[in-house]
Amino acid sequence: MSHSSPATPVLVVGAGIMGAGIAQVAALAGHHVWLHDNRPGAAAAACTQLATTLRGLAAKGRLTDAAVDEALARLHPVDALDAAARAGLVVEAIVEQLDAKRALLRELEARLSPTAILASNTSSISITALARGLAHPGRVVGMHFFNPVPLMKLVEVVSGLHTDPAVADQVAALATAWGKTAVHARSTPGFIVNRIARPYYAETLALLQERVAPPEVLDACLRGVGFRMGPCELMDLIGHDTNFAVTESVYGANFGDKRYQPSLVQRELVDGGWLGRKSGRGFYPYGEAAATPALPEPLAGTLPGRVRWHGGAGNAVAAFGQRWCEALAAAGVQVEQASSEDGGDWVGMAWDGLRLALTDGRLAAHRGAADGVPTAVFDLPLPSAPGAALAWAAGPDVSDAALATVAAVLAAAGVRPVQIEDAAGCVVARTVAMLINEAADAVQQGVCSPEGADLAMKLGVNYPAGPFEWLQRWELPAVVALLDTLDAFYRGERYRVSPWLRRRCLPPRRAGSAR
Ligand code: NAD
Repeated sequence: MSHSSPATPVLVVGAGIMGAGIAQVAALAGHHVWLHDNRPGAAAAACTQLATTLRGLAAKGRLTDAAVDEALARLHPVDALDAAARAGLVVEAIVEQLDAKRALLRELEARLSPTAILASNTSSISITALARGLAHPGRVVGMHFFNPVPLMKLVEVVSGLHTDPAVADQVAALATAWGKTAVHARSTPGFIVNRIARPYYAETLALLQERVAPPEVLDACLRGVGFRMGPCELMDLIGHDTNFAVTESVYGANFGDKRYQPSLVQRELVDGGWLGRKSGRGFYPYGEAAATPALPEPLAGTLPGRVRWHGGAGNAVAAFGQRWCEALAAAGVQVEQASSEDGGDWVGMAWDGLRLALTDGRLAAHRGAADGVPTAVFDLPLPSAPGAALAWAAGPDVSDAALATVAAVLAAAGVRPVQIEDAAGCVVARTVAMLINEAADAVQQGVCSPEGADLAMKLGVNYPAGPFEWLQRWELPAVVALLDTLDAFYRGERYRVSPWLRRRCLPPRRAGSAR
């Protein structure tokens, strides 16, 4: 019998948030489900709660009464594991502790048939370590659901050193039959989503530590390019204790690789008990004191009569360049296209002895000094809704009057300009480059495929696009150049370029080398 058939009885161990959700999904998909928890009465209570949930869904018309009756008839709380000896699949969702999970797997192995699959919903424990010492370690696999299980589409199917590929395939087929999207991953710290997502938090925490901008500005910039929540509001929702613990676990599991180093800014929030929504205070206040801080009003300035547009190459530039030029022309600004003799292959605009350039990772101050021209830089305008926040920063030689003109030009181009302190790679550009870099490393190390990484990030954490989709829009040489610039600026390990990207960034052919 194939394990993905509804005829396979399923045992779910651990009747907490995740176990109850997994039991619900499996029962609705047609399986007989035994639910067990070592807290007396917990499994029965979870089944009662599930009945209320399913009846509520039927009342809203999302399920038929018959489907609910059938699913509930298939769901059984059990006090002892012996009662579930016929299970073809076990999904364990007990406490996140290696020793407890290992002990449970040993107990299960003693009771279940040798062909039963033992799946773990662990978020951070090595599947390889879980399987060690079992008589049949090939049947241990990760089946990593996301919270809330009935709503989140993604299941990471995680293979350890011993996992039989046929077992991973069967679990992937089962997840698909349950209406989920399965993505294969190799057992490495954070698997796919919890690993690739680290820079989303880390870059913002680094910018906060550098005092580049307050949380509401950084959040607005990232929401501006389609993330549902900015990093600060998302960390407040997840809880700083939980988010910090995941970062620490990935950092430790990578032997202290500085790329994953936790942040003192978040440590301070944890130490102070400002854990986010659940404690009433995180980056933002919640409850009665709640007030969403407003973005600073843009500087009021007059538009220049004409600007010269430096187009440069690249998909990202093509996507916003034409839109910006048309919007400026509609606002009465004469837009001339710079010729190649105008110098440089930078992207942006020049007027009245001033440059406003797309960030290439350098500080505006450094660019201005290198080129001998007062310079402001703007963040990467990935596809965004009109009026979405976009960060910009200026070097010290840009006059106050010119600053106001920059804000006016960006507003006329169709964005909501938000001035930040001069920072390497602004906000979106460095965050997205680092998400791409992390995904590229995961693929280089055989953790997942590029398609798997894209799917996982879109379905597991609702990213507006996958890292490899961004890479295609932005273009590889620009991403590598930006990361190299950050690497040179910070001189740490965090920004080292993934070999996957470096291998594909071919150097220009040397003159005279053509045959
Ligand atoms: P939870 O605390 O809500 O539930 C865990 C349940 O397991 C509790 O009811 C507890 O009584 C029971 N339990 C503990 N030890 C047991 C044992 N030896 N035998 C039987 N039952 C036992 O936790 P949760 O949030 O549902 O997490 C469960 C697992 O899922 C963990 O491995 C966690 O890392 C993983 N996970 C959690 C989330 C999440 O967002 N909560 C997301 C993905 C994965």
